[in-house]
Amino acid sequence: MQVSIACTEQNLRSRNSEDRLCGPRPGPGGGNGGPAGGVHGNPPAGGGSGPKARTAVVPRPPAPPGVLRESTGRGTGMKYRNLGKSGLRVSCLGLGTWVTFGSQISDETAEDVLTVAYEHGINLFDTTEVYAAGKAERTLGNILKSKGWRRSSYVITTVSGCHTLSGETIYRGAETERGLSRKHIIEGLRESLERLQLGYVDIVFANRSDPNSPMEEIVRAMTYVINQGLALYWGTSRWGAAEIMEAYSVARQFNLIPPVCEQVEHHLFQREKVEMQLPELYHKIGVGSVTWSPLACGLITSKYDGRIPDPCRATIKSYQWLKDKVHSEDGKKQQAKAMDLLPIAHQLGCTVAQLAIAWCLRSEGVSSVLLGVSSAEQLIEHLGALQVLSQLTPQTVTEIDGLLGNKPHSKK
Ligand code: NAP
Repeated sequence: MQVSIACTEQNLRSRNSEDRLCGPRPGPGGGNGGPAGGVHGNPPAGGGSGPKARTAVVPRPPAPPGVLRESTGRGTGMKYRNLGKSGLRVSCLGLGTWVTFGSQISDETAEDVLTVAYEHGINLFDTTEVYAAGKAERTLGNILKSKGWRRSSYVITTVSGCHTLSGETIYRGAETERGLSRKHIIEGLRESLERLQLGYVDIVFANRSDPNSPMEEIVRAMTYVINQGLALYWGTSRWGAAEIMEAYSVARQFNLIPPVCEQVEHHLFQREKVEMQLPELYHKIGVGSVTWSPLACGLITSKYDGRIPDPCRATIKSYQWLKDKVHSEDGKKQQAKAMDLLPIAHQLGCTVAQLAIAWCLRSEGVSSVLLGVSSAEQLIEHLGALQVLSQLTPQTVTEIDGLLGNKPHSKK
């Protein structure tokens, strides 16, 4: 409770200074951008002289509260949003590497997938130190190196501190080689960078699978890795709202760097945190959301039609829990609910997967939705969610809520 009050006061001060710095905000769709775009939402650059420079600039009306400034990539149609209230512009669809890179799919397929993603304007690529025991980072690093894309044109995120991922075996067992101690955050990130063959990652996320590290130690370690140039921003992953507030408060108290976003599960059947808790943090302290598993690991597709197709994630030995979920009562109900959305999807001319991804994209404070794909075809399908997003009216969202029957409500 104390944390919340302290943050709110601090936040009022920082929000005021932020508003002064940012000036009026363009509405959605304002500006143009993407990797090949210019400065987002600003008037065209043109020096200080000449008739154009003297033309009066009409300030754009501020966007309604909660609306993220969005710009569209030329040629790709990809949408770009700020990462939380930081200045970093990320594609609203990101690509994850869990299960796939370095294990389920070949290096050739991984390269195809990454190439399709980059060429369609995706600039955010997510990995962790534990995916495929470090092989996901290695595969991603090899592809980035062979492609030779400009380092400034994409954003790499990795996660530190994961040691209990469902279905994933921990690749090293030493007590000091996991969690969120200053030692592991710094050493782990250096090793990730080696595997990625990069000088820095753009965002390092702290996975709160280890509740034992003191908050001040985590925030100090994250500030250190940023000050050393090993990462540019830091975020949290799987943290509670109160913990994120505490991190922010500690950062403000000791003049350290606060987190910019939370990496969080969000899909049709996992809604509470993104829809009820994180918007408040976004408004108060500028922490946005990068969401994951938009298809609930593939459950929100028509693929599990009473059977498990092979190959797919649920047939992988260490993902028996997913197979169990598919066959469970709860899993069957979720699949049936997802299929209830078929008429709406048909009306919009899209697949249920595209509808489910577009639905995630419309949530307040969401900077990017991380996709998982085991083929380039799946990715191409998901890119279609961008068109679906523009057709998602409030009525359609209400209709979806009615069918799902799980819209979270404020306790107030
Ligand atoms: P997801 O979208 O819920 O599931 C992706 C899987 O669904 C694909 O690998 C594919 O698996 C299946 N699929 C995708 N599109 C399909 C389609 N059109 N038709 C049929 N099946 C389809 O996403 P996710 O991989 O679970 O999560 C996305 C990313 O979020 C991860 O890669 C990771 O980077 C991140 N993440 C982070 C955390 C964290 O704790 N921070 C946790 C989980 C994930 P198959 O084809 O093999 O069935």
